[in-house]
Amino acid sequence: MSNPPLILIVEDNAGSLMLATVMLETEGFQVAGAGSAEEARDVLATKTPDLILMDIQLPGMDGLEFTRELKADADTAAIPVIALTAQVMPIYERAARAAGCEGFIAKPWTPEAFSREIHAFLAGIGAENE
Ligand code: MN
Repeated sequence: MSNPPLILIVEDNAGSLMLATVMLETEGFQVAGAGSAEEARDVLATKTPDLILMDIQLPGMDGLEFTRELKADADTAAIPVIALTAQVMPIYERAARAAGCEGFIAKPWTPEAFSREIHAFLAGIGAENE
């Protein structure tokens, strides 16, 4: 694990990306941001994050497809992926988990829930709703 841990946020909404980045940096994490799967691949070419926060609704390749790609690649398969989505019905969470996401955070997230989930993952506890 990087010290401090490095979190990659894949989020196409610039406001949401900035909010999440500021929050996590305030908590002492290193943060890398990407607005699409393509941008995230560029980050992953040079860095190995400890955790990926994955927006599901992305332009181009969506977050589910990109997660499947990461989980099929030996270089990135072990990086935990937490899905971020406004689609909170159980079918969407099942789809995220089937794609390989280990966690699921519903939007709009509260800073408290966001922080709790991320600390739990980095501590190896897993998502509260697993
Ligand atoms: Mn989006």
